[in-house]
Amino acid sequence: MLDIESDTSEKTDECCIFCQIAAGDDEEAEIMKKSEELVCFRDVDPAAPHHFLVVPTEHIRDGLSLHRGHAGLVKRMAQMGEAVLRDQGVTDMTNVRYKVR
Ligand SMILES: [Zn+2]
Repeated sequence: MLDIESDTSEKTDECCIFCQIAAGDDEEAEIMKKSEELVCFRDVDPAAPHHFLVVPTEHIRDGLSLHRGHAGLVKRMAQMGEAVLRDQGVTDMTNVRYKVR
């Protein structure tokens, strides 16, 4: 017999807190916005009055795991973040900081 296993079919990691939040399994998380591929929620330890995190529903280990193919995704993450800020009444986007991690 031939037994082949591959990680690539695993879209989520059960041990990953961000995957849990994206799946709606973390009741503490305050979800601000949601799409099929992204979830935006409030940072539990905000460093600014408006501090949000956007994570993909597909597990990506960290910023170093990103490749060219993620460019569109990262752009949409930023767009979702901006949309949430606008919902919060933030109009000046020049003062917004982004951090990939
Ligand atoms: Zn994950």
